[in-house]
Amino acid sequence: MEGVLLRPYVKRFFPTKDFVLSTNFGKNHIVLDKELASTKEACNDIKRKALLTDFYISGSNAISEDGKIVNVDHSGNRVAALTFGPEKVFIVVSTNKITENLDEAIKRVKNTACPLNAKRAGFNPPCVTLNKCVDCLSKKRVCNTLSIIEGQSKPNRITLLIVDGNFGF
Ligand code: SF4
Repeated sequence: MEGVLLRPYVKRFFPTKDFVLSTNFGKNHIVLDKELASTKEACNDIKRKALLTDFYISGSNAISEDGKIVNVDHSGNRVAALTFGPEKVFIVVSTNKITENLDEAIKRVKNTACPLNAKRAGFNPPCVTLNKCVDCLSKKRVCNTLSIIEGQSKPNRITLLIVDGNFGF
């Protein structure tokens, strides 16, 4: 194994005793976590290296009942890795992210996930104060890339782990 990306979502959104992801992968394994980067350049470097890891762990902004995985990204590194690059992808998502259909998933992403994520990141696009998307052109726009995963060309590359509960956004 050459690399593992440990997304901070796991600890941030699922801090229960029952859900523990070990970071002890052994000396031959490298864990990449952009949250640990001390500079913007270092963070960008980790994002680029993460695209060639063996395992990638991420959350998701919405999942439709018919199985479409919907995400938005500011810089696009996450949706890129979910789509292609890492050998295996594990998506951990809680049941509050499940929507009736694709339209509702996109609405959730834009009107719920984006404002909360923007606020968390210290950005201030209009949706932060309006609590809904107004399709802005703000320089602080957090939804530059919208990704809809409808299938996978490589069987079993993506594993979806659904956690019962209301975690994250
Ligand atoms: S387009 Fe602008 S207002 Fe809409 S979700 Fe994205 S950042 Fe927020």
